[in-house]
Amino acid sequence: MNRDALFPGSFDPFTMGHKAIVDQGLRLFDRVIVGVGANTDKRGLLTVENRVRLINDIYAGEQRVMAMPYHGLTGDFCRSLGLSFLLRGMRNTVDYEYERGIMLVNQRLFPEITTVLLFTPPEYVAVSSSTIRELLDFGHDPTELMPKNIDLKNYM
Ligand code: ADP
Repeated sequence: MNRDALFPGSFDPFTMGHKAIVDQGLRLFDRVIVGVGANTDKRGLLTVENRVRLINDIYAGEQRVMAMPYHGLTGDFCRSLGLSFLLRGMRNTVDYEYERGIMLVNQRLFPEITTVLLFTPPEYVAVSSSTIRELLDFGHDPTELMPKNIDLKNYM
């Protein structure tokens, strides 16, 4: 069995909070595949292609992380890659309840896939993609919440 994990999400855009989960995941798994879901009911800031490019730029020097786009159900994508672990992050009890709901469905549909939930470090508990989108909407600079050396303008 391989020790690679899929970290799925919208990542619109990828934040310091997401990076904290990938970096912790690298301690547990050989590789972390970041799956960028083309989820139609979420409002888009970046195109899926640019979300993938941004993540691959952040991890340009880390061969164990790779971002890929996907359509459809996360479990189907995970299975198609032959992966046995789904990595997700948890900021608070709202995330916990949401993640547990998804995990229960996945456990039924994809019994060979194990969900691994990691806690976010306290400094990133309040960071979300939607906060970044809101700051941009109101003319503020969200760079501080983004991984270092990432200028969102290059991806919009
Ligand atoms: P989704 O639409 O699937 O919730 P997101 O891109 O919002 O996609 O989140 C992807 C994963 O990252 C989820 O597991 C989410 O709980 C987690 N996450 C989001 N923000 C943070 C953060 N600040 N710290 C840790 N995990 C986070």
